[in-house]
Amino acid sequence: MMDWTALRAQFHLPDGVIYLDGNSLGPLPKAVSARVRAVIEDEWGDLLIRGWNSGAGGQGWMTWPTRLGDRIGRLIGAGPGTVTTGDTLSIKVYQALASALHLAGDRRVILSDTGNFPTDLYMAEGLISTIGQGHSLRTVAPEGVEAALSEDVAVLMLTQVDYRTGRMHDMAALTRAAQAKGIVTIWDLAHSAGAHEVDLTAAGADFAVGCTYKYLNAGPGAPAFIYVRKDLQDAVRPALSGWLGHAAPFAFDPAYAPGEGIERMRVGTPPVLQLAALEAALDVWDGIDMAAVRARSLALSDRFAAGVADACPDLTPALAPDVPRGSQISLRHPDGYAIVQALIARGVIGDFRAPDILRFGFTPLFLSEAEVDAAVGILADVMDSGAYRRPEYATRNAVT
Ligand SMILES: *Cc1c(COP(=O)(O)O)cnc(C)c1O
Repeated sequence: MMDWTALRAQFHLPDGVIYLDGNSLGPLPKAVSARVRAVIEDEWGDLLIRGWNSGAGGQGWMTWPTRLGDRIGRLIGAGPGTVTTGDTLSIKVYQALASALHLAGDRRVILSDTGNFPTDLYMAEGLISTIGQGHSLRTVAPEGVEAALSEDVAVLMLTQVDYRTGRMHDMAALTRAAQAKGIVTIWDLAHSAGAHEVDLTAAGADFAVGCTYKYLNAGPGAPAFIYVRKDLQDAVRPALSGWLGHAAPFAFDPAYAPGEGIERMRVGTPPVLQLAALEAALDVWDGIDMAAVRARSLALSDRFAAGVADACPDLTPALAPDVPRGSQISLRHPDGYAIVQALIARGVIGDFRAPDILRFGFTPLFLSEAEVDAAVGILADVMDSGAYRRPEYATRNAVT
């Protein structure tokens, strides 16, 4: 049995807030501040440049990206030496896609779905025009992916859980179906890592990427991660061939030679302060059983969905009840933006995704049943009272 109360106590959660947006920016684990301060003062401050060899608790800052990659690996079913961290998720998508296209040889089609997060699709468009070899991006409805796996597809690039609706793809089945047609697979785990069980090894996925500031709680701008299946690593030709992915960065050889294994997916200088935050955030996950997280995530989100179905008839679920989903509930309403603003004014923080989705994330490490019930009550009040029609809720902020 997981002690959820003790887990919740590890987070700083402001009074008067019910936080249903940990799927977009996870809350602050209390241990992060002290850890980052220690790295700033004791390591950057006193070790200065010696920190590259002796910081990070004596192991050297330079080892941090892949050591933390191994710790993320435990949460996504990836073995040691298959995950490294750094850069942003957009960059990691680009790296994975460039490498996958190279492995895929002569085929020219990148297949994705229309529910994918825009940056993943934008990075594909940018890469296609940079390569200039006639590649194209084909997007189909999420339900149509399996049928669209044809012999002209080079790479299947999907986000496992749709950021908007919460719909979840069957990673193992689609990977198998793709590979049977000679297609290289890339899975974006942005809304999966830390949200539910993932087993990249069992699925046989070729590449995976994800971020650490959502369910993993490593803070705004925290580094992304990239996974490359062990047996592919030596064949991968990095497109972003930075010096820290070189076989011998400090040989300062003018010619590039890729580093060993997953190290070649590193690019430049690691973000040491963000890695310190990530390490403290990952400490929270020690000993956590992802099956228990998934069970509780479904219990909390089912409870919310049932409450809303009873109390808020004007809000339409974005998914049919039998469709597998991640750790979020999405509802549709034409005034979705204003409703979310009215909720935030009452301390219930969710978010809005254009054109009409109200999105609520259920992060079991800190949410309770009582908060879920209170959130349903407040949402019902916002709907019944029509409070969301007040003009101040209609003006859009830059970040929704
Ligand atoms: C959150 C998210 C991103 C964000 O990418 P950044 O480069 O970290 O800003 C990308 N893809 C997906 C699927 C996401 O959910």
